[in-house]
Amino acid sequence: MQRRASQCQEVEGSVRQTTLDVLLCPVCGQDKLTFQGEQTERFQYPQGMVDEIRSGQIACPDCGVTFPIEDYVLSLIDLLPDDVRHDGEYWGQYYNWYYERQGYGYFDLQQPTVPFVAYGVAEPIPFDGEERGGMHTILADHPLIRNTHRALDIGCGVGWTTLYLARQGFDMVGLDPALQSVKLAKRYALQKQVPVDYIAGGLGYVRFRLASFDTVFGFHFRFVVLDGLADMIYLKNDRSIESLRHASDVVGVLNNVLKRSFPEAVEYVTVVGQKQRSLPAVPQPGLDAVYSKYGALFEHPTSEPRRHPRAQPTPWWKLPSKAWRMLCYEGLVPLLAEFQSYLRWKRAGGR
Ligand SMILES: [Zn+2]
Repeated sequence: MQRRASQCQEVEGSVRQTTLDVLLCPVCGQDKLTFQGEQTERFQYPQGMVDEIRSGQIACPDCGVTFPIEDYVLSLIDLLPDDVRHDGEYWGQYYNWYYERQGYGYFDLQQPTVPFVAYGVAEPIPFDGEERGGMHTILADHPLIRNTHRALDIGCGVGWTTLYLARQGFDMVGLDPALQSVKLAKRYALQKQVPVDYIAGGLGYVRFRLASFDTVFGFHFRFVVLDGLADMIYLKNDRSIESLRHASDVVGVLNNVLKRSFPEAVEYVTVVGQKQRSLPAVPQPGLDAVYSKYGALFEHPTSEPRRHPRAQPTPWWKLPSKAWRMLCYEGLVPLLAEFQSYLRWKRAGGR
């Protein structure tokens, strides 16, 4: 990566500037945060040059609080309760252990999964080099999300979802209480030349400006036991690739059975909130009633919703197999709903 030190006062297009665009003072709620003593460094991204603030602090002139910026990450962790901070320290150390050994599987879906070191397996599961999109792809491709632009990833950890969406063209901010985790995530994103903004802090201990984000989500694994199941079967069967493939298929079926069996529960992705100009193009029972009561809140202040530039829906040649899978695992009604939402998206100018 090309980089040079700079002391620019004009921070144009800076990822850090984005932070002040979205943040209010987390203590008094005033909209007067400024940078102090910032040291900037210029980075070359595919999108252009960006001045990143490596160190310094943000300050609120109204209530006098300051919060540090270290290693390109704003830290609000002083506001967190002790138990949350300690939990964050644990996860920071956990991921740092992998980072130091170039185990980047948790950082980047384009990297192989990391080995189950805690269980005495010191080698990674075979990796075919394809990005492990999975549920992350479903998130990016979801009709509610694919046309949005600025998104907040709550509990981003070391950033695999944040990085994935940023590569897809979303303008990403990642938030996590583990300071060391987000510092590692930021360092990794800089290495990979992906512009992402990370904040160390916790939900409930940070204040965002109204309508800062088009989409806010927390990405979590509900049936986490299934996550490593195929890998375990691979190891049990003398590291047979056939076993791994077969077990992965079985895990896919099991996952869908669980989803079908517990339809009331949200699986994997929780969309916490979203700013939209019009009603979502997917069926959501009860939303009409909410809209008639609170519809004005959904109105976007600008005339046109922003469309994120590189939304990539499933390519047309993959659609028949996708439709077939949906039909097998989820049935005709969800498939038709998906098709209907696709047509609406297309009619609204989706490409
Ligand atoms: Zn303040």
